[in-house]
Amino acid sequence: MSSFAILTDVTRCTGCEECVLACKSLNETGDRDAPRKWQGKATDLSSTRWTTIAHTEDRHVRVHCRHCLEPACAAACPVKALHTTEEGVVAYDPSICLGCRYCMMACPFSMTRYEWESANPRVRKCILCYDKMKAGEIKEPGCTAACPEKATIFGERDALLVEANRRIKDRPDLYLDHVWGEHEVGGTSVLYISDVDLASAGWPADLTNDGVPHLADKVLETVPTTFAGVGLAMAGIHWVIGRRNKLAAEAAAAHAAAEAENTVDTPEDEEQS
Ligand code: SF4
Ligand code: SF4
Ligand code: SF4
Repeated sequence: MSSFAILTDVTRCTGCEECVLACKSLNETGDRDAPRKWQGKATDLSSTRWTTIAHTEDRHVRVHCRHCLEPACAAACPVKALHTTEEGVVAYDPSICLGCRYCMMACPFSMTRYEWESANPRVRKCILCYDKMKAGEIKEPGCTAACPEKATIFGERDALLVEANRRIKDRPDLYLDHVWGEHEVGGTSVLYISDVDLASAGWPADLTNDGVPHLADKVLETVPTTFAGVGLAMAGIHWVIGRRNKLAAEAAAAHAAAEAENTVDTPEDEEQS
């Protein structure tokens, strides 16, 4: 089965950001896109902005998770919280995520973000609206449905590759002869065609056509020591919380005993009543 995919035609994009708004609305990520200290701009990808537009001097290029066919993020995840579905979507299960963020270190496109300010933080990225499509709530992702120019379209990867190559063949005067994502890092399910080199819009220039499991391996080399550190930290936190709960329970018991003592009727009380 060919995987779900998105084809973005950079020559058709006007930069209106309807796709961004639709993503935020459908995935209920909220209005707030406050710039973080480490962010260049408030409009960069963030935990509340899973897709954005890189506005260059004369082009507008969609940015979101590329749904790699061999995702380094999933390879680096020790518990498979990030995983590839049978439809080829790189999906996420927050219920088993450890919060280790190895996926973020492994991604060759730097597409994942983290809810740093949340008490129960999750990794956030485009999930191709997989949950809502799977539930039958929508037939295509919010971003592609919202695009007024049909600059970004949804379909099966094989069919979108045929469409991309057809457009390039029909207009060799317009397009560069390249489908971004067809081969890079082993292939991605988010494809682009363009009249300018996408390196100018942040597409990493040094990617090979091989999968990038070595990026995951590099991250996982740090796992034993990091887990030992995390384990110790968790044990420490557990001890502190346990100790705090124990002291609170003892204080409550002492308070209750004192209250009970004060409310016990004395013989004088009984005489007065
Ligand atoms: S672009 Fe990054 S986050 Fe998305 S599937 Fe590929 S490795 Fe994972
Ligand atoms: S596919 Fe869904 S989650 Fe991904 S950018 Fe589009 S609207 Fe957002
Ligand atoms: S909605 Fe379409 S035209 Fe507008 S920014 Fe997104 S991809 Fe470009």
